Amino acid sequence: MKYKRILLKLSGEALMGDQQYGIDPKKLAEYAAEIKKVHDLGVEIAIVIGGGNIFRGVAGANVGMDRVQGDYMGMLATIINGLALQGALEGSEMLTRLQTALKIEAVAEPYIKRRAVRHLEKGRIVIFGAGTGNPYFTTDTAAVLRGVEINADVILKGTRVDGVYTADPEKDPTAIKFENITFSDVLKKGLNVMDTTAFTLSRENELPIVVFDMNKENNLLKVCQGNDSVGTTVS
Ligand code: UDP
Repeated sequence: MKYKRILLKLSGEALMGDQQYGIDPKKLAEYAAEIKKVHDLGVEIAIVIGGGNIFRGVAGANVGMDRVQGDYMGMLATIINGLALQGALEGSEMLTRLQTALKIEAVAEPYIKRRAVRHLEKGRIVIFGAGTGNPYFTTDTAAVLRGVEINADVILKGTRVDGVYTADPEKDPTAIKFENITFSDVLKKGLNVMDTTAFTLSRENELPIVVFDMNKENNLLKVCQGNDSVGTTVS
């Protein structure tokens, strides 16, 4: 396997499947099956999950809600998704731990780096909930932060687009996909990989990012095996 320890970032929106809101159990089961394939091969897996399928702080602020209040609602949404994912993974015979940046002790462990690493070493999948625990951040930033902290080999950003393109492929049919690109070229070309905070943190710590389509069967496995035809590697 190319990567021994991965930080998988899943967006909350991806969990909606074909629905307009919430969590689609079919999608959860699909993700659990894909994650199991790499788990069975001994890859250590940490996961950060977003909350956009339930609530985004910015959306609240747009309709007059206090931004900080909205962001805490968003963080709580990521914990709900984390619990759902934990259930799906355990239903597929994987051991997991949910650790959260906001303490919610009846349902999850508090985030403790050394403990998270120990879980990974024992083959448990660690899900990080509540993002960074701070308003004005995103779960992409939380993913890179946790990835750096636990010494992950790579950030795997599973989305519905299969890589980084010259333009938005959902809007521009002439857009071309990069197989590999450097952090500097992403900046020079003004491409959108992650928000600036997340991207800068990744770049400064030389932690590569692979953007790939998580909705295609075996893609996660192929990325972990180092198959360059899947997704785009930013390094
Ligand atoms: N959030 C936050 N701090 C963090 C991570 C998330 O305040 O460190 C809030 C923020 O309101 C964000 C929401 O949680 O909009 C959901 O996260 P995100 O939008 O990153 O989820 P995704 O787009 O991946 O579904």
